[in-house]
Amino acid sequence: MVHGHKGFQFQNWARTYGCCPEMYYQPASAEEVREVLALARQQNKRVKVVGGGHSPSDIACTDGFMIHMGKMNRVLQVDTQKKQVTVEAGILLAELHPQLDRHGLALPNLGAVSDVTAAGVIGSGTHNTGIRHGILATQVVALTLMTADGTVLECSASSHPELFQAARVHLGCLGVVLTVTLQCVRQFHLQETSFPSTLKEVLDNLDSHLKRSEYFRFLWFPHSENVSVIYQDHTNKDAYIRDSSALTDGAELMTDFPSQPPSSSGNWFWDYAVGFYLLEFLLWMSTFLPCLVGWINRFFFWLLFNRKKESSDVSHKIFTYECRFKQHVQDWAIPREKTKEALLELKSTLEAQPQVMAHYPVEVRFTRGDDILLSPCFQRDSCYMNIIMYRPYGKDVPRLDYWLAYETIMKKFGGRPHWAKAHNCTRKDFEKMYPAFPKFCAIREKLDPTGMFLNSYLEKVFY
Ligand SMILES: Cc1cc2nc3c(=O)[nH]c(=O)nc-3n(C[C@H](O)[C@H](O)[C@H](O)COP(=O)(O)OP(=O)(O)OC[C@H]3O[C@@H](n4cnc5c(N)ncnc54)[C@H](O)[C@@H]3O)c2cc1C
Repeated sequence: MVHGHKGFQFQNWARTYGCCPEMYYQPASAEEVREVLALARQQNKRVKVVGGGHSPSDIACTDGFMIHMGKMNRVLQVDTQKKQVTVEAGILLAELHPQLDRHGLALPNLGAVSDVTAAGVIGSGTHNTGIRHGILATQVVALTLMTADGTVLECSASSHPELFQAARVHLGCLGVVLTVTLQCVRQFHLQETSFPSTLKEVLDNLDSHLKRSEYFRFLWFPHSENVSVIYQDHTNKDAYIRDSSALTDGAELMTDFPSQPPSSSGNWFWDYAVGFYLLEFLLWMSTFLPCLVGWINRFFFWLLFNRKKESSDVSHKIFTYECRFKQHVQDWAIPREKTKEALLELKSTLEAQPQVMAHYPVEVRFTRGDDILLSPCFQRDSCYMNIIMYRPYGKDVPRLDYWLAYETIMKKFGGRPHWAKAHNCTRKDFEKMYPAFPKFCAIREKLDPTGMFLNSYLEKVFY
């Protein structure tokens, strides 16, 4: 018999959203999940499953029953022939990587952090970059789902294929995902090369950057022309880090600072201690003196990004990094061919409204189109443009004008917001954005006619 707890307080990773569920459960088996759902049906309660709690929105919040999947975190099967792994849905990717390492396998692409669960990352449409790679949900070859009435459905291309097309990006609203089977590849090392450039150079040569590197992305530093280009590619080299003082060929730097920052001598203390503590302090200062933000963006580009750096390691260590700062984020996917127009419009909007402050970086990533009903990349190759506003020492920085300007531009260029990240869209918007929205709604209403798996975030999506 599964026991629930009262009085649990949930906070997401960024501490931007939280809730007090009426009961909190940590089931250890499918049978225990079924018991919670039976109790919820009897008492007419809503249920929300939470994974790693990393979503920067209220998508995982509830005042009903909360199910935490942390005890359902085993690797169930590894098929080295097919290079597939079946896991319980609550496994953190941080727990999965070492187990895949032991079998010489790896996931072909990952988001930036690993303290997130298999079901959580697929359900919210988590993505990385690489125009030949889809969002993480495209790595799923099968999953099992427990629906509101306790039935377990196996979904794959051959079993309930229509549900499979919906359930990979499930938003947590179709049922409890119990297991996920992921397509892996042979374990690989990645070499990361980052070098400075300018917005003009990158946007003028976007296609050639996309061809040159398998996992290409770039960081733009608002209130400047500065860009850091990041290439990640397969390599046979062992783990190493090289911090070069030589600037990349042809990059004309647009900083107001001397050409070499202190860490060009390879002094990593600057980057990873002084740099980060100084950033938080200066960002906090800028809450009193907003005009500092542009200077901070240019200063940190000069301090940390204006030289070539190389490193190599096993793929999951290169894909992910330790994110130190709590932050608000938005991340919309627009058609890939609109990248240049949209980014230039964002830049000119910021120039026209100097009172609107934008923290660095705007992270620009690229993803292959797919056929998952609510994937932001549904039927189109996409460019994701992630904007952030940090919360220095937990303090909120005014962001609404920046958010509004960005959302207006994203909508104009046919954007679709990241499901995990805060946005102001409602059902009317999603009906326009997603050709298959009615199909997803019909599947959801059939599987969950009483709305057991809804919460206030999902009500805005579906009502
Ligand atoms: C520091 C940081 C870096 C990030 N980097 C990236 C990035 O690079 N790319 C990107 O796209 N996103 C990124 N994100 C967002 C993150 O990948 C997503 O929020 C992801 O969903 C988090 O997984 P989680 O396990 O924490 O899910 P949660 O936030 O716990 O849940 C997400 C959704 O999945 C549902 N869910 C979880 N488990 C189940 C289950 N077993 N059954 C049914 N529903 C379930 C929840 O109900 C909820 O609707 C980042 C977030 C942070 C905080």
